[in-house]
Amino acid sequence: GDIIVTDNLWKTYEMGDQEVHALRGVNLRIRHNEYVAIMGPSGSGKSTLMNLIGCLDSPSQGKYWLNGHDVSELNDDELARIRNKEIGFVFQTFNLLARATALHNVELPLIYNGTPAAERTQRAKATLESVNLGTRMMHKPNELSGGQRQRVAIARALVNNPSIILADEPTGNLDSKTGDEIMALFDDLHSKGNTIVLVTHEPDIAEYAHRIVTIRDGVIASDHPSTRNRNQ
Ligand code: ADP
Ligand code: ADP
Repeated sequence: GDIIVTDNLWKTYEMGDQEVHALRGVNLRIRHNEYVAIMGPSGSGKSTLMNLIGCLDSPSQGKYWLNGHDVSELNDDELARIRNKEIGFVFQTFNLLARATALHNVELPLIYNGTPAAERTQRAKATLESVNLGTRMMHKPNELSGGQRQRVAIARALVNNPSIILADEPTGNLDSKTGDEIMALFDDLHSKGNTIVLVTHEPDIAEYAHRIVTIRDGVIASDHPSTRNRNQ
């Protein structure tokens, strides 16, 4: 079934007496277990679309259904609840708590949703093990490499079993070898049934996905299988 459905999504920012139409009628449908890259030049609307898909912001016009919920009309509290349940975020800058161990960072989403302590720790440990960080659980971010930090962030994104993983330039702060390792991990997650939406401006990174959606001036300019997917 469909995890993401948007119908004529618009986002307009008010800048003094000016209006910026960052999205101008986006229609996008993403099915369960798809692996989609969203590409486009700077200023094309990628971040705006990612913020709407991730329930960080609401559209100015149009409809958005996330895993069957109509989320276009929700208030901020309702959006936060849906976001915590449905979305696992991975960012370019990792966004880990510097003073907390890897384990504590991964437990945070479970603390937020009230999971009992024993279950929380057990799930966070199992998730860290699944990204090959079983031996680094008590390390703090500054005791880990960039690639390890991103794997902590991916474990944090996964620990709540979200319906989609939303990754914004996840390799942007990594050297290319480490970036390839992180993309191999996304491949692995995809093959285990996860739905992945990857926002990137790098064509080589987008090629890891199976479908590439290009956005230009706030509208979808193209939507096609990746070369890798066509060749499979
Ligand atoms: P991208 O992520 O592709 O670089 P953005 O979604 O950040 O594109 O931006 C799309 C357009 O919306 C740009 O013209 C940008 O200047 C404008 N924009 C983005 N965020 C805001 C904001 N908070 N206020 C005003 N304009 C914004
Ligand atoms: P990257 O960010 O691309 O992983 P780094 O320069 O951070 O590259 O790390 C390079 C190597 O050094 C990695 O294999 C990592 O395991 C190791 N490393 C980096 N920082 C630390 C640290 N604080 N303690 C132990 N090993 C580290």
